[in-house]
Amino acid sequence: MIKQSPVMRICVSCRQTYDRKYLFKITKDHKKGIMFQKGMGRSAYICKSEKCHSDSKIKKKLQKALKTVFEPEFFDIFKKEIRSYDDYPNKGI
Ligand SMILES: [Zn+2]
Repeated sequence: MIKQSPVMRICVSCRQTYDRKYLFKITKDHKKGIMFQKGMGRSAYICKSEKCHSDSKIKKKLQKALKTVFEPEFFDIFKKEIRSYDDYPNKGI
């Protein structure tokens, strides 16, 4: 067995470092635009903390991290996606 060290990423909201697999990933894909949990390109991560999802500045923080401006409907989709992601088993945190 090869011991793999976890890939650590920082939550854009609380600035805490977590193992990447426990974070929700938002990617600005080169071709497809904003994607959740997939895509290739500049990415930002957010942890599962309710406080971070409901951060009033999260949209601004994400836009800055991804160097983009979101469509008006982005936030509705984002909230739905991150809520469904929350149903995943919360291992390790
Ligand atoms: Zn966070």
